[in-house]
Amino acid sequence: MTLPKVAGGQATRDQFLPFSAPWLEEEEIEAVTSVLRSDWLTTGHRTLEFEEQFSRYIEIPYSLAFNSCTGGLHTALAALEIGPDDEVITSVFTFAATANVICHQGAKPVLVDIDPQTLNLDANLIESKITKHTKAIIPVHYGGRPCQMDRILQIANAYRLHIVEDAAHALGAEWQGVKIGRLASDCTCFSFYPTKNITTGEGGMNTTSSMELAQSMKVWRLHGINRDAWNRYLEGGSWYYEVVKPGFKYNLTDIASAIGLVQLSKTEFFQKRRETRVQQYWKALGSLPIDLPPPFAEGRHAWHLFPVQLKLEDLRVGRDEFMEALRLENIGTSVHFIPLYRMPYYRDRFGLQPDDFPVAEHVFQKLLSLPLFARMTEEDLDSVVRAVKKLVEWFGR
Ligand SMILES: *Cc1c(COP(=O)(O)O)cnc(C)c1O
Repeated sequence: MTLPKVAGGQATRDQFLPFSAPWLEEEEIEAVTSVLRSDWLTTGHRTLEFEEQFSRYIEIPYSLAFNSCTGGLHTALAALEIGPDDEVITSVFTFAATANVICHQGAKPVLVDIDPQTLNLDANLIESKITKHTKAIIPVHYGGRPCQMDRILQIANAYRLHIVEDAAHALGAEWQGVKIGRLASDCTCFSFYPTKNITTGEGGMNTTSSMELAQSMKVWRLHGINRDAWNRYLEGGSWYYEVVKPGFKYNLTDIASAIGLVQLSKTEFFQKRRETRVQQYWKALGSLPIDLPPPFAEGRHAWHLFPVQLKLEDLRVGRDEFMEALRLENIGTSVHFIPLYRMPYYRDRFGLQPDDFPVAEHVFQKLLSLPLFARMTEEDLDSVVRAVKKLVEWFGR
């Protein structure tokens, strides 16, 4: 069913509200300008400072900046020597990058169904997927909600598996009082893509407490050069270097790091704004035929997303029509995520079917993410609430 026009003839908003938008101000623009006016554009002092400040924020010895979280995840797997014949367990309900990097290493992604409440991978299903080939688990903190990390760490310990956390959504989150990024995993990977909680345009950061892993990731990150090589064109830098691995090209520029330094200093402010909006959503949408994301009692939720599930039995339309109707009200939404077994590559290459992931498939049919971002105002939120209420009534049974 396609909707020819706005329900009731009048859109809730005049201007389109995107599902997410970055928040950059004069401070970030000036920081970039000052890098552009200098002689150094690529990885240099700004990036080192960004890494240092990030380590201070997470309270971890080592932070390494990447040009994306995808590059960070890939580098972590390479440095942990994940390769052909290895299997890596992760959630079926994630962005493709999480599984793609496993394939980049020639390893096999082993996908796990999700918990219907948290939409995180179901920790109870992990052990049944472990074989003698299993080398690592990649827990994804879906929407900024930390996974059951005590269970996952316990399993990893018992079976001697590596853990690389996909914390693309989870900057600012805490599991039982400990910041995501400094749990006892091998490595945690954050994203600074424009929709994420802070942005550098494109970018990412890996954190680890292992000096050895940090050293190895540094080598893999930049051409496989075995020592700091970024400064070889500076006065006092040495022209000589050695390549010891077929490394990647995943370094972050100083232009991006200049944005990152300013954004990082606003992390707590952004977090508070997101929390306030979530409280307002809960209060305003609580009585509608829509399931809202449950509160998180075991720490701090980063509230990257506000994913809701329509009660389809109470509506005359499906999720797709509901999203299209919201678009006509000038409200942007998205779906996180199209489960990986629906992606042709994963479906065909690994013979995956919806029946293998009953929870993910059931949730996917009714799931959408409402707008949530730090810059969003209370008036923006009110308009989303009005539009949702209007459509629930319009399409109600
Ligand atoms: C955004 C995202 C990534 C990739 O981050 P990039 O910085 O865009 O590479 C990885 N995993 C998840 C769950 C994401 O949402």
